[in-house]
Amino acid sequence: MNPITHFFLSWGVANALPNSTRRHRAIITLAGVAPDLDGLGIVAEVLTSKTQQPLHWWTDYHHVLGHNILAAIVVTSIAALLASSRVHTALLACLAVHLHLLCDVVGARGPDGDQWPIPYLLPFSSSVQWMWHGQWALNGWQNIAITIAAVGAAFVLARRRGYSPLEMVSTRANDVFVDAIRKRFPL
Ligand SMILES: [Zn+2]
Repeated sequence: MNPITHFFLSWGVANALPNSTRRHRAIITLAGVAPDLDGLGIVAEVLTSKTQQPLHWWTDYHHVLGHNILAAIVVTSIAALLASSRVHTALLACLAVHLHLLCDVVGARGPDGDQWPIPYLLPFSSSVQWMWHGQWALNGWQNIAITIAAVGAAFVLARRRGYSPLEMVSTRANDVFVDAIRKRFPL
């Protein structure tokens, strides 16, 4: 799925505990998007596409490097190291990473109809390739509906709890936003 969809779904996971902190929510949300860092190779691939030695870092490494059990362990460990409540944060970060992988299995079919399997046991074994024959397209209506639902949930959470993903950039921007939606949608 799109990184934006992963972001808002992970934000939902980050809000699973009502007494979470801003830092806890940021760590879990970023953990849920982290697997797609392996897609950054697209920059090198596009920049070198017309050269004599084009790099295929996106084609070769996206959905490979960051979408496996070792990456999940690394992301979960970093989340635990950065957090003050290590167990809760690590568990939810691990959940966010696996929700990401699951979402990619169900909804990341390429425009050419290409299925994109998840090599879950890499680098230890390539024997497992998660795939689902019903996988819908990356730009399918299902992904759009899930994104709208996740963004809607973020609005409801912001209205109720007083924090939105904006707090990751600026608490002031978050407060202005929460104030605005509370005025617009009073109890
Ligand atoms: Zn992904």
